[in-house]
Amino acid sequence: MGLGPPVQPKPGSLDPRVRFRQRVQLARKRGSVAAWMAAENAKGHACACGCGKLIRILPSHHSRGIPRYLRAHRPMAVTMETR
Ligand SMILES: [Zn+2]
Repeated sequence: MGLGPPVQPKPGSLDPRVRFRQRVQLARKRGSVAAWMAAENAKGHACACGCGKLIRILPSHHSRGIPRYLRAHRPMAVTMETR
């Protein structure tokens, strides 16, 4: 009662700082992903099909997850058989 609408800051005024922050966070994230990649590559992830070859860890695997099989080694027949 008697309270006016809250004063909203201009949306454009915060932009540069936010952008800068995101850039810094991205750079930090990249560094940690590189460290993660090195650690996972050092561990060694063998292909789950049994060929014994090691899966090369890529930066995209950090967010998506490490695949269990090498690219061409994923048994497609398994998904067809399961009903
Ligand atoms: Zn394999």
